[in-house]
Amino acid sequence: MTLPFPEDWNHALVVVAHPDDPEYGMAAAVAKWTREGKRVTYVLASSGEAGIEGMDPEEAGPVREEEQRRSGAQVGVRELVWLDLPDGDLADSPTLDEALRQVLDAYPAEVVVTTYGGPEFEPGLPNQPDHIAVNEALAEILAGKSVWLFENGPAPTHHVLVEDEDVQAAIRALAEHQVYLSVLDPATPVKTQARAQVYRSVARSREDNRVHFRLMDQS
Ligand SMILES: [Zn+2]
Repeated sequence: MTLPFPEDWNHALVVVAHPDDPEYGMAAAVAKWTREGKRVTYVLASSGEAGIEGMDPEEAGPVREEEQRRSGAQVGVRELVWLDLPDGDLADSPTLDEALRQVLDAYPAEVVVTTYGGPEFEPGLPNQPDHIAVNEALAEILAGKSVWLFENGPAPTHHVLVEDEDVQAAIRALAEHQVYLSVLDPATPVKTQARAQVYRSVARSREDNRVHFRLMDQS
């Protein structure tokens, strides 16, 4: 049993390590929130410049930023904040904590959502160290603060009911990561990859579609 996600807020920050992180699990919820008039800002710790195999980071960074901008636009997100920290090295970046503190001050929000911070999504499917670093830094910064901090991962506590139009917007959003996805899996069309991934991330039943989040311990 999960609780309905809180609704009495106006501004959420989605704080992640890389471009495409919002699209892998939570974009359908973002689409619903913005459709209902809420403000959502994406905060990206890195530009994902190490994420395209065979492409120079100096070339890949701008490509991935542009793909993320298009992707945000598909779900009503037009504010993106880039922290320009090193992709793949966030856990050892002494400035991650400070950069996150600054952005949380500069963009006050009632809700902060991030990617999962546990060691593995399921047995044999390890998490990525950058995701864990961002998640842990946020937990430390927001400890004791009256800001809801949610992660998108296993053992959910809350759900967002989304409509089919939100799911379709999330698929379009993930498909905007064209270069990234086409290098990741050259054999499968980008739209097919996007559809499969988004359908995996949304709990669909005859009654409704849900995106799940876990409220993190902020004591
Ligand atoms: Zn990532």
